[in-house]
Amino acid sequence: MESPKYKFIFISLFNDLIKPFLNHSVFKKPIKERIIKFEFFNLRDFSDLKNSQIDDYQSGPGAGMVLMTPPIWRAIQEAKHKLEPKRTTVLLLTPQGRPWNQKLAQQFINNYQNFIFISGNYEGFDERIRSFVDHEISIGDYVLTSGELPTLVIVNSLMRLIPGTIKKDSRENDSFTNGRLDYPVYTRPKEFLKMSIPEVLVSGNHQIIKNWRIKQSLLKTLHCRPDLFQANPLTSEEMKILKNDQILFEQFKKIINQKPKD
Ligand code: SAM
Repeated sequence: MESPKYKFIFISLFNDLIKPFLNHSVFKKPIKERIIKFEFFNLRDFSDLKNSQIDDYQSGPGAGMVLMTPPIWRAIQEAKHKLEPKRTTVLLLTPQGRPWNQKLAQQFINNYQNFIFISGNYEGFDERIRSFVDHEISIGDYVLTSGELPTLVIVNSLMRLIPGTIKKDSRENDSFTNGRLDYPVYTRPKEFLKMSIPEVLVSGNHQIIKNWRIKQSLLKTLHCRPDLFQANPLTSEEMKILKNDQILFEQFKKIINQKPKD
């Protein structure tokens, strides 16, 4: 039988937090078709201490338990042993890590096929663990109680980008994919509480709809996330559309004149 294309190994104390989400129907098809495979390592199985101890009080004063280095090191070795080394990476979830985003998710999917996730708990993990990982990842500037939720956030964002998991055209206009927010979408009923679907969307003219969507995407990005234009300057297609709409063009003058960030 063909080996799964993308493998995810989770090293955690609380895999019961991770498993239910990955049991959801959205993951069933890619698992069945051997596009992805999940494996769960219970960190306690890698302890060589009494009662499968994996944490201890921190050295020096201070509250909170700290995950010990040896069990995590052993778990990483065992996980690596199961995977092809060339396209394998070890990710440590920490609020001190590199902020995760769509661009990074795409880079990881392009560069790797095997992912080992380490979830921290309690006060965190022994600092020496950092030397065994390839990437330290944060899901945002806030602190959660443990790394299982951040792990799921990362896995879900990666999984959507794996060819064969979801339809390409359902993700190609997603927010952040091209450095813009997605355009607004509507469905039935045509009118609700006097709010109607924009007429253009029922015009049947695909080119007009396409241009309208590009404009809406630009406007949403301008109003909600103007910072995205810094790293993703206006494309020639966007510029053409703006030049044909004087009012819109005026709104974007600041963006058009802004110098791209190095
Ligand atoms: N004392 C640590 C600090 O301030 O950096 C926070 C420890 S936190 C209570 C416990 C674990 O939750 C972390 O080791 C990490 O695995 C996970 N975690 C919490 N917030 C996170 C975030 N924003 N991104 C990624 N992981 C996070």
